[in-house]
Amino acid sequence: MNNPPRIGLTGGIGSGKTTCAQIFMELGIPVYSSDDRAKQLMNTDPILKSSLIGAFGFETYLSDGTLNREFLSKIVFGDPEKVKQINAIVHPAVRRDFESWAKKKHSVPYILQESALLFEIGSHTVFDKMILVDAPIDLRVARVMRRDNVPKKAVVARMSKQWSSEKKRALAHYIIENDGHRGLIKQVINIHLELQELRIPTH
Ligand code: ADP
Repeated sequence: MNNPPRIGLTGGIGSGKTTCAQIFMELGIPVYSSDDRAKQLMNTDPILKSSLIGAFGFETYLSDGTLNREFLSKIVFGDPEKVKQINAIVHPAVRRDFESWAKKKHSVPYILQESALLFEIGSHTVFDKMILVDAPIDLRVARVMRRDNVPKKAVVARMSKQWSSEKKRALAHYIIENDGHRGLIKQVINIHLELQELRIPTH
């Protein structure tokens, strides 16, 4: 049996991709949240856990087997090489996990993977279509400051690791403009209607 087409849902921090993912879920579309799953896998995936311990030592995990977030945050603070090293361990585990999740999905018109960094890590090429959620940068900063209760400088630091909107817009098949003026639900429904018609014999 063919598996349904795979759609990537991405956007910079504060663009509103999680909000859009929730609308797609309401429409009955299975959504794989890469961030949520990565956090879970770091506590549960034996291969991933042993790779992290191999790279950063036994202190990476607490005595109850859960990730020592404080220790890891200290290690990566201000060290982009360490961030790269963690990503090189975590991303393949998320890919494996997504693959086994996706293989079990039948009888739906398509499935979605939501992640902030699909273009940045080059994985957009594995999707049948890419949806980008975008919003003016000032609005994104304000939304994240409010959502996470963090100062502007912390949001800007996180944004600096992500591609610019322009670069992503050029590669997206669909763009959701979450600028507060154009209705979000209507835009998601329009894309959903188009994606339901996709007949890509893949995977
Ligand atoms: P992302 O997942 O891209 O970081 P979120 O979906 O979490 O972004 O949205 C960031 C914050 O902005 C959340 O608190 C969300 O509720 C809010 N938000 C998103 N879109 C809108 C909108 N159109 N109007 C008002 N608030 C919004």
